[in-house]
Parts: sequence; structure tokens; C-alpha cells
Amino acid sequence: MLTNAMTVDVEDYFQVSAFEPYIAREQWEQWPRRVEHNTNRILDLFAECGVKATFFTLGWVAERHPALVRRIVAEGHELASHGYAHIRVTQQTPVEFRADVARTKALLEDLGGVAILGYRAASYSIGAGNLWALAELEQAGYRYSSSIYPIRHDLYGMPEAPRFAFHPENAPALLEVPVTTVTAFGKTLPCGGGGWFRLWPYALSCWALRRVNQRDGQSGLFYFHPWEIDPEQPRQPGVNLKTWVRHYLNLHRMEGRLRSLLRDFRWNRMDRVFLSAK
Ligand SMILES: [Zn+2]
Repeated sequence: MLTNAMTVDVEDYFQVSAFEPYIAREQWEQWPRRVEHNTNRILDLFAECGVKATFFTLGWVAERHPALVRRIVAEGHELASHGYAHIRVTQQTPVEFRADVARTKALLEDLGGVAILGYRAASYSIGAGNLWALAELEQAGYRYSSSIYPIRHDLYGMPEAPRFAFHPENAPALLEVPVTTVTAFGKTLPCGGGGWFRLWPYALSCWALRRVNQRDGQSGLFYFHPWEIDPEQPRQPGVNLKTWVRHYLNLHRMEGRLRSLLRDFRWNRMDRVFLSAK
């Protein structure tokens, strides 16, 4: 049985890209933070199931919750970078990006006392138009990135990218591990988590990941967010239907489904699954 990588993007409910039109970064401090409480619940769940995972953490969150960063490391999980303030790479110049990834790496290394090897772009915002970012990550000392979504989507996606881990031409020392997709019915469909996991029945998600493991013979990765196990989070009024569905649908089902997923597959940290194996 192949081992897949379990990952958590450590950010709060008001920091997601879909809420950018409604909540400015300058207003973040006004929202009650729930990320530490929710991430602690995830850490409890992982401990109960004996799963080690990778936590792609925002610098903004790490600065405000150093005890959480220490707990992630102390319990044997991998600490990795999700950038400082969840700014999509498509909205950054190379100079801004370089500063952001260096600052966040140093900050997390300082708080966690471990080397930071992994990076995940906000909303998988590395694609055909900004592959220079991969070279910047290599330069900054990251060993891998998990920032490309090899599908068509309105917010992200690079459908022509390889579906599985590859060394980019312009950054040969870096490993890019795209979000897991499944090919079925002549289409490439997402199956690495996010809103899809809440939308699809669990059996379908389970079938898709098994198909990747068995047919493609590849390890997959799964990602979710602390706010996805928090049905009590404050609701953002006035969001459009698409955003509402992506953010709020089936939140109350998430924890149970996660428990099944943790039980039905073998999981480990990104670095252990992808860096040591190849
Ligand atoms: Zn994110």
C-alpha cells in the first residue's frame, strides 16, 4: 500500500482568497481568530490516528501563535511555508515574492527551530504565467514546492503541467509536487482535497485516491484547512453563491470524513513521502 502525504494549510477562515473582495488584509486583526483552536483539534485527531503531516503555515499566523508552531514541531509533524500573508503569486512581482518567501522561511525556522524545506503558494497560484517563482524558491533554499494545480479552474490551474512530482526545467534542484488529480472519463479531475472533498460523497473521493495509488502507481497528496472543521465560524455576509458553496458546504461533515480518510489510507509528511523516496 502506497503512502500518501497529508497536508494542512494553516490559515484562518477570513484569510482565504475567495474572501479577498470582502475582507481587506488591513481588517484581519478585527476578526476573532480561530486558527489555533482548530489546528489544535487537527493535531489531536492526527495524534489519535497516529498520522504525521505537513503544516503549510502562514507567517502572519505563526507570528501570532508561536505555541501552535512549537506544538506542530514537537509532535513530529513537518513545518512548511504558506507565504507570509496569503498573497497569490500572480499578484506579486519577482522582487516581492523573493522577499516574502525568504522572510517567511526565516520566521518559521526561528519559531520552529527546524529547517523549512517546503512551500505552498496561496491558492496554488503558480502556473504557466509565473514559473519564475519556482527558480526563486530554489534560490531561497526550499527543496520542494506544492503550488501547481494541473487542472482548469477559474482561480488557479495549469492544465498542461505534469500530474505528478517533477523537477522544473528552470529549477532542477527543486521538486514540484502538484495537487493530486485523477484521470477518469477522459478528464483530469481534482482529488487532492479542498472544496471537492466536501462536495463529493466520501466513497467517490476514496475511489479516486485509490485509483491514483493503484492505476498510476503514485503517492497522492491531500490538503485541507483548519476552518473546514469549524462549522461554528462567523459567517461572511453577502458572498456570492459560488463562494458560499466552496467555503461553507458540508463543513459539519468534514471531521467525520477526515477520520475515515485517515483510517482508510496510509499517510505521512510531504518530505518523507516525496523527498526521501526519489
Ligand atoms: Zn491558503
